[in-house]
Amino acid sequence: MTDWPTLLDFDQNHIWHPYAKMPAGIPAIGVAKTQGAIITLADGTELVDGMSSWWAAMHGYNHPKIQQAMHEQIDTMPHIMFGGFTHEPAIELAKRLVKLTPDGLEKVFLVDSGSVAMEVAIKMAMQYWISREQPNKNKLLSFEHGYHGDTFATMAICDPVNGMHSLFSQVLPQHFFAPAPQMGFDINSDDSDIAAVRQLLEQHHDDIAAVTIEPIVQGAGGMRFYRPDFLRQLRSLCDEFNVLLIADEIATGFGRTGKLFACEWADIRPDIMALGKTLTGGHITLAATLATTDISDTISQGQPGILAHGPTFMGNPLACRAAIANIDVLLDSPWQDNIQRIEDQFNDTLLPLKTQDGIADTRVLGAIGVIELERGDLGPHIQAVGIEKGIWVRPFGKLIYTMPAYNIPQAQLNQLTNGLTQAVKTAVQSAIQNA
Ligand SMILES: *Cc1c(COP(=O)(O)O)cnc(C)c1O
Repeated sequence: MTDWPTLLDFDQNHIWHPYAKMPAGIPAIGVAKTQGAIITLADGTELVDGMSSWWAAMHGYNHPKIQQAMHEQIDTMPHIMFGGFTHEPAIELAKRLVKLTPDGLEKVFLVDSGSVAMEVAIKMAMQYWISREQPNKNKLLSFEHGYHGDTFATMAICDPVNGMHSLFSQVLPQHFFAPAPQMGFDINSDDSDIAAVRQLLEQHHDDIAAVTIEPIVQGAGGMRFYRPDFLRQLRSLCDEFNVLLIADEIATGFGRTGKLFACEWADIRPDIMALGKTLTGGHITLAATLATTDISDTISQGQPGILAHGPTFMGNPLACRAAIANIDVLLDSPWQDNIQRIEDQFNDTLLPLKTQDGIADTRVLGAIGVIELERGDLGPHIQAVGIEKGIWVRPFGKLIYTMPAYNIPQAQLNQLTNGLTQAVKTAVQSAIQNA
């Protein structure tokens, strides 16, 4: 028998959790196992997973085809250094990524995590301009409410207010920030947001290497959806002012918004694209940075003539095999129908909450549902009521959001939307009563 109380006590006192204090304010909950869209806790409680482990488990946990591919790879070659060697899993994965992503993204760099994929994207953009003997083009233009990772180069392009800029202001490089695109996937905008980008590029393009943006969905920095036309116009502005466009598809990639990649909504091709999160269906960590041949040729023909990056676990064969199986499972599945099914259900169940007291906004795109509250302190209460109702959500400040596995069984999807609705109502009402 696992002695959970002792284990959890050790966890509390010795192990950091994401964005947590030590010991953690709210203790972490022991998990015993996962299967499909179900998480089984140490005490046997089963929860319907509303988070897909932060966008990662798009087919649910323990997918048999992905597991089988990983078992085979573990028995053959779990890892080999990528310096000087190559292997079938890396090649087969890169083939798929080149084929599926927008035309022209042909060169693949395989890394271990999303933040590092963005670091590599930034490095590619800077080396591109160094190679073209315009080293002053070394700043980035990013967006308010953006999120691109937790490492230093990526923190510097996250939202300057809700990111960590004030904490690390002495050491973070200074970049340019444009206002976030206006909220709304199908609004008719006055384009004042794109006008602000134009103005920044007009003034500073000589200093700017690239624009970095999350296409269509700004994720962790606000769960905001914006119109494809903004992205289309942004692509044109990048061409006009001779700056590169880096699309961070780490959260949106592989179907979550209803298109395989969110860039497809605007029918654009970025110069560099970062992928991660659900690349292996949540089975093991892996991320990738794709770039055009123009970028790879320019870097390779310039000085020092190489892309200056090469992590120890680059191209890990076990992770690549998981990613290949994951992508094949996705393409063999009716994923568009599944996304539509989840979108319809979120539209029916979550959108109507908008009129309730205490709720600022509700919004849905693809298999992403968002409830934005008026206050930011109800997350722990909502999470606790959710667990009583048999669901797992992880609120973030004012944002209660869910992005379940695409193939979540209908009964579990019903439980998720019922439980979430009840948890939000309960927490909001008790806060109003106690006010
Ligand atoms: C999660 C995320 C990242 C960072 O990925 P990690 O694997 O957590 O380092 C970067 N950009 C976006 C849009 C993300 O959602």
